[in-house]
Amino acid sequence: MRGSSRKRVKQDNNKLKQIVAKPDQETNNMPLVISEVDESAVPLSSYAPIVSSYNERIRPLLDAVDKLRNLKVMQEGIQLPTIVVVGDQSSGKSSVLESLAGISLPRGQGICTRVPLIMRLHHHSKPESELHLEYCGKVVSTDEINIAEAINMATAEIAGNGKGISHTPLTLVVKKNGVRDLTMVDLPGITRVPVHGQPENIYEQISDIIMEFIKPEESIILNVLSATVDFPTCESIRMSQSVDRTGDRTLAVVTKSDKAPEGLREKVMADDVNIGLGYVCVRNRVGDESYDEARMAESMLFESHPLLSKIDKSMVSVPVLARKLVQIQATIISKCLPDIVRKINSKLNGNVLELNKLPQKLSTVAEALTAFMRILGLSKESLRKLLLRGEFDEYPESKSMHCTARLAEMLNKFSQELKNSSPNNSCENFLLDEIFVLEETKSVALPNFLPRSAFLSLLQHKVNTVSEIPVNFVAEVWNYIETVVVKIMMHHCENYPQVQSSIKRAALNLISKMKDLSKYRVMEIIEMEGIADYTCDPEYMAMWSKLMMSCEAFKKAFDSDSSIANIEGFGEIDIGHLRGYPGVRDEAFDLKMRLTAYWDIVLKRMVDSIVLHLLLLLKKLVNQGVEEEAVDEVLGPQGGGIERLMDESPSVAIKRARLNQSIGLLKESRDVLAKIIDRIALVDD
Ligand code: GDP
Ligand code: MG
Repeated sequence: MRGSSRKRVKQDNNKLKQIVAKPDQETNNMPLVISEVDESAVPLSSYAPIVSSYNERIRPLLDAVDKLRNLKVMQEGIQLPTIVVVGDQSSGKSSVLESLAGISLPRGQGICTRVPLIMRLHHHSKPESELHLEYCGKVVSTDEINIAEAINMATAEIAGNGKGISHTPLTLVVKKNGVRDLTMVDLPGITRVPVHGQPENIYEQISDIIMEFIKPEESIILNVLSATVDFPTCESIRMSQSVDRTGDRTLAVVTKSDKAPEGLREKVMADDVNIGLGYVCVRNRVGDESYDEARMAESMLFESHPLLSKIDKSMVSVPVLARKLVQIQATIISKCLPDIVRKINSKLNGNVLELNKLPQKLSTVAEALTAFMRILGLSKESLRKLLLRGEFDEYPESKSMHCTARLAEMLNKFSQELKNSSPNNSCENFLLDEIFVLEETKSVALPNFLPRSAFLSLLQHKVNTVSEIPVNFVAEVWNYIETVVVKIMMHHCENYPQVQSSIKRAALNLISKMKDLSKYRVMEIIEMEGIADYTCDPEYMAMWSKLMMSCEAFKKAFDSDSSIANIEGFGEIDIGHLRGYPGVRDEAFDLKMRLTAYWDIVLKRMVDSIVLHLLLLLKKLVNQGVEEEAVDEVLGPQGGGIERLMDESPSVAIKRARLNQSIGLLKESRDVLAKIIDRIALVDD
């Protein structure tokens, strides 16, 4: 939660406390809290007109929240302001709701409340009450006499006939003259020990339901405590404290005041269990009493009982409880509505955005073809930018997609490796290789002709020692380009799962063809360099002449019996081992200098031609290859034809349906709230 909104909630909670602490005071500062008269001692039937005007003003807001609840807006993760009734088993939850509604609910031993029961109380002016149940998409009318049975039947339908429980709520709508407009949720009572027929994990199941309802900040917890028990030992207190430590949104109702009047006043005054919104002690209907009899008995009890009459009148009786609840409800609704509007709008926008991102459903061949062309066009454009032009605005953060720079790096590394792997100026055993080759290529002929075969043999040997480097280099380049091409093409068809496999296959085929072409070409280049020696580059002659200038120094070293000679391009060289070969060493020297001058040309030519070849292939890949392969794969016989694009993948269809449903729901919710926001403005005026 952001700091400011936490502060706001805190302020709202304080207001809530003030209102509840001083129920008789005018609270005009709150837009939705309307001033009240104290009718706690007045029988239900006689305060109807006052209730009526109050209800008239609060009802639209409550109706709106109830409508949102009916729309199941909570499925979208939007919490609604709710009064949640919790309590240990047999603490009197259902009895409290009965007292508030003036009707009989299933009561008694074992768990009677097995599903969340949303109880909506509406005042209406007709003398006779109207009741109905809403569950599993149907509406079942009933009446006060049959309500208990109807609830039991509905519960059985939702949660089965046994003792099992369910998260699916049952809604009970009570329209009755004089009743307060209140919506509350009754939950199954907390039970530690499973009774006969209950599942072993009944405690976990029930606490899951309770937690689901009391956790949201928007919930008001109505904690029902029996006067006969020690409050700190109540499981319901433990649970409500776990989500509302300060008690800011917890109100306690103490039932069975008649059964345990001793020390009750002290218990509620001491507030050992942190109830922020205060206590109300009540006496519910006992046995077969009528509602009016029960209220009379309660009023008498708190009026005349020697102990109970000492409890402040703002903390006793069902009418006081009803009033407090109405006020809390109004406050919590006014507090939550703006946030709910905001959340609905942002969810709605998010979903619409997501829906628009989904692929359009392609229903004709023309549409499918257009989509296919778009995938191709976008892929080609991206590849052209990344591979050829070095523009990476589509992937500014992803360095691996800055292709031209990465290729240049690979290229530099390659050319360096080539140079290093064939050291031209190796000084060890100077000229011995050359001498050996000259010995072996000698023929029956005049001695002062340098045999060409000796040169070629040395050249071939040198070429062979580096031949793996270019092969590995092009393999590395194509592996890299493969990841780029696959990534780009998959990105452009991410909304069309039905062609993804074909497109990927096309990309892989294309690269595989390119790899073959490159490999063939590189082998050819290596072979060419090995079998012939030619260059038109004058650099060769210039270099050779320069190197041969050391020839004199080389010869002189032998004449002067020195074993070290200083040779251009090689530095100080040990030549002692050459004394045994006086006949061929000058020829060998010349041979070495020719090869040295020529090898530089060979390496440059290899790098240049391989790189130009790669650039050519890249261009072909972008300009023709992608298109040809993709068309072949998708439209060709094994691709399944363009029609394939028209069958939407199940995952997309499901997603689309889910989004459409959610958007519908959110739009409806927004419309419901739009009307209410106008009313809030009216109330404000
Ligand atoms: P729930 O399990 O929390 O819903 O509890 P019930 O409402 O079913 O009540 C359990 C039992 O306590 C029932 O037999 C009620 O009649 C009884 N009961 C509830 N409230 C009072 C009360 O204020 N006074 C007396 N004497 N009995 C009550
Ligand atoms: Mg109950």
